Amino acid sequence: MLKNALKLPWRQENVPHCLIDIIRGCNVVCENCYNTDSAHVKPLQEVKDEIDLMVKHRKLHSLAIIGGEPLLHPKLDEILEYVNSKNILVELFSNGLLLTEKRLEELAKLKVKLIFVHIEKGQIRKDLPINATEDEVKELRYKIAKRVHNAGIEVGTIFTSYKDDMHSINIALEEAIAERSMTYLIVTLFRDYTRFNTLKGDMEKGFQGSIDFKKKTDEVPYSNFDVMKYMHEQYGFKPFAFLSSNREAYDPRWVSYLLAVFYPKDGGEPIYHSIKSGYLEKFYLFAHYTIKGKYPFFQEQDEKKAYALLKLNGLFGGDLKGNRAFLKRIKKQEGELKLLRVLFQAPAKIDSDGTLSYCDTCPDAVVKNGKIVPACVGDQL
Ligand code: SF4
Repeated sequence: MLKNALKLPWRQENVPHCLIDIIRGCNVVCENCYNTDSAHVKPLQEVKDEIDLMVKHRKLHSLAIIGGEPLLHPKLDEILEYVNSKNILVELFSNGLLLTEKRLEELAKLKVKLIFVHIEKGQIRKDLPINATEDEVKELRYKIAKRVHNAGIEVGTIFTSYKDDMHSINIALEEAIAERSMTYLIVTLFRDYTRFNTLKGDMEKGFQGSIDFKKKTDEVPYSNFDVMKYMHEQYGFKPFAFLSSNREAYDPRWVSYLLAVFYPKDGGEPIYHSIKSGYLEKFYLFAHYTIKGKYPFFQEQDEKKAYALLKLNGLFGGDLKGNRAFLKRIKKQEGELKLLRVLFQAPAKIDSDGTLSYCDTCPDAVVKNGKIVPACVGDQL
């Protein structure tokens, strides 16, 4: 299934992305929150030092500010200015509670390009009733997504997926297709980190750990092979790109899909098409790296470029027939075209020999005690 997917080429210092964790503590309570550290605010200088360390080790195209809830950090604006001064694009992860129109206007001025909004069923938050229904949660997600989009910032949504409830993938995906404002979707496969007994090491030498097999858990073994099979059965989609694990070249820890979605002006149903990667995308990565000295990570929406991609991708090893059929379907209609990027992430796991298996070179690494480590196991180290 990965045969025609683009293998992401990042290695060591070429990795174009990282996370910067600026605060612990949150104004929302989530089920299965990975954030187990006690609440604290990182001083501005410490955050700047972490950004400097990442810049020294990676050729960053963009970075994401995470927490806890980053909007609670009293020096968030200074942190964003510092990232801007390094010529790095910035994304933000937020539960959306403090994303008022005024704050979004400020964040847009501070060049925040993308906000991932995390609003899920089971959260305890003051803008939702306790035991809110799926529809109430969705309504809130749409409301905040539209507000972010109206401020000129792109919107992503984040979900956790469980092997015994894969239908939630359909819900998340179809919601991101239906809502014009949403251009990124991250689905994380559930991992129960409370079962981790010990974990030691670093990304250079590798990590070793152990699991408490006696501990009761909701975790059912779940991998991106399950996801790819499901996506193919449900939608006929094939992966656009993937990232291997640190241990196996064809163990896909990241699997991404690229969808072109057209919204007819007359309010009809969105028309969508899954794009297959070809030589064009490989050439684009190579050209970007050669000219700008770094691989691209965050991709801004641009309707003209999306049309050009659909036309050229087919000519250079992509899905010529499929792209043409899609373009023909939307040709005579007025409307808007967006690209929707969907990413499935399989978080790190401890293999039977005690070695940690994680996304190769971890593009979502954070700094922990002066070392660069995968964010998903940062609290276990
Ligand atoms: S190893 Fe963990 S933190 Fe790193 S990219 Fe994979 S899921 Fe994200």
